Amino acid sequence: STIELQDLVQLGKIGSGNSGTVLKTLHVPDSRIIAKKSIPVENKPLIKSQLIRELSIMQNVKPHENIVGFFGAFYTASTTNEIVILMEYMDCGSLDKIMSTYKSFVTRGSPEATENWFSELVLTKISFAVLNGLLYLYRDYKIIHRDIKPSNVLINSKGCVKICDFGVSKKLINSIADTFVGTSTYMSPERIQGSVYTTKGDVWSLGLMIVELVTGEFPLGGHSDTPEGILDLLQRIVNEPPPRLPQSPQHSREMVDFVNRCCVKDERERSSLQELLCHDFIQKGQSHGVREFRHWCKRIKKRLKEDKMLQREENERAKLVKR
Ligand code: ATP
Ligand code: MG
Repeated sequence: STIELQDLVQLGKIGSGNSGTVLKTLHVPDSRIIAKKSIPVENKPLIKSQLIRELSIMQNVKPHENIVGFFGAFYTASTTNEIVILMEYMDCGSLDKIMSTYKSFVTRGSPEATENWFSELVLTKISFAVLNGLLYLYRDYKIIHRDIKPSNVLINSKGCVKICDFGVSKKLINSIADTFVGTSTYMSPERIQGSVYTTKGDVWSLGLMIVELVTGEFPLGGHSDTPEGILDLLQRIVNEPPPRLPQSPQHSREMVDFVNRCCVKDERERSSLQELLCHDFIQKGQSHGVREFRHWCKRIKKRLKEDKMLQREENERAKLVKR
């Protein structure tokens, strides 16, 4: 079933990134909620034809349990010069959204935030899903994701974890000046140094992401969005020792070892997708906890809703105070 743009009703903004904006929309004919991502592009023939070719790669990817469903892509030249990508709506949002919701619960001193929301069970389920999705893309389509980070890993309340935003190269979209802003931080040392990019670059990004989920902070230290700040971060990725999980008796041996095998600076010594899928941390997590994880996803959805409500109240109050 193909979806046509005129059958969509916009419900609200979900979020926005460097490249575009994501809206929650209703597909009227079958009352289904879907996510609509709009990316402004330059009106240049070469860029357009390349984009259309890249988007057709996405059309060909068959559905998979760890890949966000794709419902079509359009290029709206006549109206606004943007590409529109229609995809499955994931009702628990992305990992960065869950992290920031956790932080706002902490700030409010909520009892629900006394414990980190990303337990080892949750982390092993997420890691498996990312690895499995990446392996599928590469094995069946020779697609390398290149942009694994918390905002591109999505969760729904059925207990599914899926990756999104592959295939459309950042270089084409951000053909202006802001290619580096914000997106460079999960890049592996070899990529910064200009070597050939393999799926192991995504393994590095996964390792960084796990450290971030555990600690609540991006592991290599932040960067300011100035060219100097970004260069400084890139230099740190190449020159400093790789990130590690902080020492804690709470972390299992398996998880620490798993992260250590992802965060290896020399790509040749870093584990591959297949090797990591056989790792004890993943194997241990696959044999149990399906119901528990689904329950966690449902709880996350409630918390997101609650946070949204509280934030709305706070905004209203702030407005009243101003008056
Ligand atoms: P960047 O532009 O650097 O890739 P980003 O991934 O945050 O950053 P977008 O891909 O535009 O930017 O996504 C914006 C936000 O929308 C995401 O952070 C995520 O929370 C949300 N989002 C994206 N796709 C979906 C989806 N299919 N279902 C639910 N939420 C989504
Ligand atoms: Mg994204």
